[in-house]
Amino acid sequence: MAVLVTGGAGYIGSHTVAALLERGEEIVVVDNLQQGHKEAVLGGKLYIGDLRDSELLDTVFQENEIEAVIHFAASSLVGESMGNPAKYYHNNVYGTLCLLEKMSQYKVGTIVFSSTAATYGEPVHLPLDEHDRTLPTNTYGETKLAMERMMHWFDIAHGIKYVSLRYFNAAGAHDSGAIGEDHAPETHLIPLVLQTALGKRPHIAIYGEDYPTEDGTCVRDYIHVSDLADAHLLAVDRLRKGGDSAVYNLGNGQGFSVKQVIDIARQVTGCEIAASAEPRRAGDPAVLIASSRRAHEELGWNPTRSSLENIISSAWAWHTAKPDGYSKR
Ligand code: UDP
Repeated sequence: MAVLVTGGAGYIGSHTVAALLERGEEIVVVDNLQQGHKEAVLGGKLYIGDLRDSELLDTVFQENEIEAVIHFAASSLVGESMGNPAKYYHNNVYGTLCLLEKMSQYKVGTIVFSSTAATYGEPVHLPLDEHDRTLPTNTYGETKLAMERMMHWFDIAHGIKYVSLRYFNAAGAHDSGAIGEDHAPETHLIPLVLQTALGKRPHIAIYGEDYPTEDGTCVRDYIHVSDLADAHLLAVDRLRKGGDSAVYNLGNGQGFSVKQVIDIARQVTGCEIAASAEPRRAGDPAVLIASSRRAHEELGWNPTRSSLENIISSAWAWHTAKPDGYSKR
C-alpha cells in the first residue's frame, strides 16, 4: 500500500516525502516539475506529469495500490495569482477536481491537503483559529479555500475523508542538508534575506515600515518545514484510524517582525545584510499568528524545530551548501 504525494518534488512536499521515507512508508510522487525539482525527491517512485492529465492519473492509480493521498501540487505565488487568476483556478481548483474524481473512481478514501493561512484574509482576531472567518484577499487563498470546500462536498457525497492543514510561514531546511527551499522566482522573506547574506542580492527590501506593529514592519508566524512535514504524517495516521475530516492551523504561535527576522539572520550568518525600506506589498496583513491548539490536541502535533534561530540556521546551512539551489532548470 502506497501513499500518493502530489507535488512531492516541491519545497514542503519533498520534506514530507523525506519524513515518510524515514518511517518506512511506500511512496508514489506525481509532480509536473514546474516548480519542483527531481533531485528533491529522495526516494519512492516519481511520475512526471500533471493532475489534469487523466491518462496519467489512471496509470498511477492502476500501477500502484494507493491507500492515501497527500496533495501539495498547486501554484502558490500570491502576486502571480492576482495577475493571472485563470492559472490558479485551472491548476489548483480544476487540478484538485481531477484528483478527487479519480480518488472516488479508484475508491481511495483519504486525503491530506496542503492549505494556507491565506484562506483567512485579514484576521478578525489573533491568534487565528480554525473557526475564524475565511475571506481571502488574494486569488491564491481563494482557490485554496475552494479546494477545501470541494473536499468537504466530496466527503459528503463519496465519503472521502480529508485533513486540511493551513500553514503559516514555512521556512528552514532538512537536517541532512540534502533538501531545502529553491523557488524561481524567490519571493519569500527568509531565503531572500539569506541570498542577500551570500552576496547574491545587494539588499533586502523591507515592504512597509508603517504597519501598526511594534517596529512598524509586518509580523508573521514562522514554522520549520520539517515540523510541517511531521503534521502530514500525523494527519495520515488520524485518517487511517478512521478519524473524521478536519481543518488545522499549523504555526508556532509566536510572531516575528520583518526587522526581527533580518536581525536574527545577521546573528546567525555573521553577515551585515543591507536592508532598505520600500512601500508596502499589496495584500499583506499587518500581523498573522496561528493558534495551533487544535493540531496539538487532536493530532498530537508538537513542533520541535521552530525557534527562529533554528529555522534560519537550517536554511543557512542549505543556502551555503547549495548557493544556486538544485541543478539549473
Ligand atoms: N517581505 C519583505 N521583503 C521581501 C519579502 C517579504 O519585507 O523581500 C515581508 C512581507 O511583506 C511579509 C513577510 O516579509 O510581511 C513575509 O513574507 P513572505 O513572502 O515570506 O510570506 P507571506 O507572509 O507573504 O506568506
